[in-house]
Amino acid sequence: MNQKISILGAGLVGSLLSILLQKKGYQVTIFERRSDMRNLTLSAGRSINLAMSMRGWAGLEMAGLREEIEQIAIPMYGRQIHAIDGSQTFQAYGKNNEAIYSVSRGELNKKLMTLAEKAGVEILFNQKVIDINLENNLIQIENENGINTSENHDIVIAADGAFSALRNAYLKTDRYDYQQFYIPHGYKELTIPAGVNNSFLMEKNALHIWPRKNFMLIALPNLDGSFTCTLFFPFEGEVSFQSIQTDEDITTFFQTYFPDVMSLIPTLLSDYKNNPTASLVTVKCYPWIYKNKNMLIGDAAHAIVPFYGQGMNAGFEDCRLLMGIIEKNDMNDWTQIFKQYQQARKPQGDAVADLALQNFIEMRDLVADPTFLKRKKIEKELGKLFPAVFNSVYEMVSFSHTPYFEAISCQQAQDRLLEKVMQAGEFEKLIPTEDFKNQLNDWMNEYAEEIKKIKLIV
Ligand SMILES: Cc1cc2nc3c(=O)[nH]c(=O)nc-3n(C[C@H](O)[C@H](O)[C@H](O)COP(=O)(O)OP(=O)(O)OC[C@H]3O[C@@H](n4cnc5c(N)ncnc54)[C@H](O)[C@@H]3O)c2cc1C
Repeated sequence: MNQKISILGAGLVGSLLSILLQKKGYQVTIFERRSDMRNLTLSAGRSINLAMSMRGWAGLEMAGLREEIEQIAIPMYGRQIHAIDGSQTFQAYGKNNEAIYSVSRGELNKKLMTLAEKAGVEILFNQKVIDINLENNLIQIENENGINTSENHDIVIAADGAFSALRNAYLKTDRYDYQQFYIPHGYKELTIPAGVNNSFLMEKNALHIWPRKNFMLIALPNLDGSFTCTLFFPFEGEVSFQSIQTDEDITTFFQTYFPDVMSLIPTLLSDYKNNPTASLVTVKCYPWIYKNKNMLIGDAAHAIVPFYGQGMNAGFEDCRLLMGIIEKNDMNDWTQIFKQYQQARKPQGDAVADLALQNFIEMRDLVADPTFLKRKKIEKELGKLFPAVFNSVYEMVSFSHTPYFEAISCQQAQDRLLEKVMQAGEFEKLIPTEDFKNQLNDWMNEYAEEIKKIKLIV
């Protein structure tokens, strides 16, 4: 008899995981709070686009879905930076033309649900999980018939997002560690429509950023020629959601900070006023598992801010590595599976949360800073000159499977190295000289030693 697994939440992570588990031979049911989004049109201002990078693709590939999803993904090879005077510069993400990919969260979710059902997964919609008895996996569900308790399932996996019902049940247990915090910024979505014949009104293959120090606007391309823009903006303060209210405020604000965008969004005033303002939360918690009964995955285990474009990517990596662990164990030995999963993933969840918080400062401020740009250029050169030794932290996170914890641990060693190189003088002028080459070799050897130690520790 195949074991029954209940997944809470048919979001991105729950849907992908259901396919992987069903294909492995378990019998999977998903309880989803919302109605079936495939029967709805996406409401305005709720059309989030996600940047998919290597970890996300690897999860999809494991489920045999990469090619299918590639059809709805647009490669972005770098950041297109929009200065306040309207000038634009392009910063490539990788040294070998690597890209991250713009994918509509809604479209991706719909596709994953359909593919899950095709694989034999049962998705039950309008089933809001209210509580779970941790000892026997009895799930209390609210639906159109009121509150019911479902039959018990062998295993429950909660992929029910940042406000997980299973995590709430964990909170009531003794010595549960829990930390939740909001950044002072929220976000609002706006849309740049397509031009004639679905043409793109800005560079299609880039992630656009208007960095304005304490806030920023970004835009990702959609298949229909439009761009989904997100304004990350403080809730309160002199220039904030609170202070920008009237038509005049909105117009003056955009004219002052984003003059080139104004003409591209004909419905700016109504979009700004009608689209919701949402908050951004980080959650760290421990444990992620309860005995051999149930566990957390994706945002339920590690909700993070979106500035590294890694929330979904990390969640898909959770799924892929969990399947790897199941593969290595008896597939019904959940004590071992849970233990190994938590040991492997908890440090990664914390690290990616910290990386995401750090990257907000990089995106909204540093990408327009000349010293930072010089540093980025040197990073790329070092990567080309010493490919076996040096990979920037951004490349480790987005274009490799380096554990997040290892990537963040390398940050300080890279800061020290780059500091020395930049202090030495103008890199382009120095690099042809023998003295500098020798010096650089010494520094790189020291750096390699530091990295070796980090790898031993993590
Ligand atoms: C503005 C923004 C931009 C982002 N950009 C990126 C990006 O570029 N790249 C990236 O990798 N990530 C990005 N993310 C993060 C990404 O969206 C999330 O990490 C990802 O959606 C997490 O997937 P999940 O399945 O764990 O959770 P969710 O997507 O939140 O899905 C949870 C599901 O559970 C259901 N549910 C919730 N509660 C219950 C309940 N009680 N009972 C039953 N069902 C329930 C929900 O309805 C939902 O379907 C971004 C997020 C935001 C907000």
